[in-house]
Amino acid sequence: MTELLDLDTALERLLSSLEPLPNCQLLPIALAHNHYLSATQRAVSAVPPFAHSAMDGYAVASSDAALLQGDALMVSQRILAGSAPGPALAPGCCARIFTGAPLPGGADAIIAQEESRVVEGGRVRFESPPEAGAFVRPRGGDVQAGQVLAVAGDYLHAARLALLTAAGIDQVQVHSRPRVAIVTTGDELCAPGMPLDSGQIYDCNAPMLAALARDSGADVMMVEHANDDPGALRRVLDAATKADAIICSGGVSVGDADHVRDVLAAAGEVSFWRLALKPGKPFAYGLFGGRPLFGLPGNPVSSMVTFLLLVKPALQRLGGARNIEAPPRFPATLTQPIKKRPGRRDFQRGEYRVTRDGHIEVTADARQDSNILSALSAGNCLIDLPRQQGNLEAGEKVWVLPLAGWGR
Ligand code: AMP
Ligand code: MG
Repeated sequence: MTELLDLDTALERLLSSLEPLPNCQLLPIALAHNHYLSATQRAVSAVPPFAHSAMDGYAVASSDAALLQGDALMVSQRILAGSAPGPALAPGCCARIFTGAPLPGGADAIIAQEESRVVEGGRVRFESPPEAGAFVRPRGGDVQAGQVLAVAGDYLHAARLALLTAAGIDQVQVHSRPRVAIVTTGDELCAPGMPLDSGQIYDCNAPMLAALARDSGADVMMVEHANDDPGALRRVLDAATKADAIICSGGVSVGDADHVRDVLAAAGEVSFWRLALKPGKPFAYGLFGGRPLFGLPGNPVSSMVTFLLLVKPALQRLGGARNIEAPPRFPATLTQPIKKRPGRRDFQRGEYRVTRDGHIEVTADARQDSNILSALSAGNCLIDLPRQQGNLEAGEKVWVLPLAGWGR
């Protein structure tokens, strides 16, 4: 029997074999979400672009003599957000000002409306003089003009889109999204909406893998099915080479109807096959027609788990990611014992919860067979159990990988 490859080694080999795709494009920022930058982005303008008030209140000169004596000040102007800064404050005067409005000349502090009282003649008295700079957001307080905001390979998430826009950037150079082809294999598979013949099941990996690929920043350009016949599989895979990467499900084990590995070996090259992983032992990776091909096991749970662990980071690399971050994980206490045999790293489906006193508990689903979709769909995490780990007792600590933001 061939040695089963360690997951970390497999991921390392896979990522080191891939480069970001060369095609880049200039996109308006509104369309750039979910892409990776292909060029450094510097701030065009400072953020904020002018000193402004952080409060609704009064703009004053903190060194004004009348203010320091506790005298009421004249309100000489009113400045709303969006208006031009008013004339310089005269001694003994203040400006009514609102959040986001520019400070008038001479003003260096804001006194909140709640700390003020309007007295006779429309003058305003303040509880105490402010410190210079109080509630003033200075020009460039967040970002200086010309500052590097992001570099090639950085992911364009919502907050980064906001930052670039605030700094005057309206279009960005990005890596094009990888285009993937999804190929499901199996004579037993039936397309959704068709009546099931005897022995048939619905092809549920197709929509699942397409959703996972999109969540990983890829465009799905083709979803095809191939029967368990080497010639048919070869024809579908040939068509799939139009894509940047091929994601294949099923037919990658050692059964008589499993042809993916052989077709890959005959027409391409197998980089590795079979992992010390549960679920997901029969995983193959290689090149077909010059395209990376991921051969995922057919059982839906195995397909999803291997996708998250291996295909997602690969798509991120193709899409231009600079750092490929491991999925977030945290320690949790088992509420129930877990059965596990040493030999393969196991990612069990489970549900974690934060207790009232702030501890994290996790329960593995009782149904860990790799066809149990209900546990995969209802659970909120995977429990990562090391390769040589045996059975675990309730109360032991395990690593939990939340699915939110990763596989959801
Ligand atoms: P295979 O990896 O082809 O040996 O398939 C393993 C198990 O997963 C079998 O029970 C298949 O019927 C099932 N399976 C394979 N592909 C799919 C699919 N696309 N949707 C649902 N089940 C599948
Ligand atoms: Mg099959």
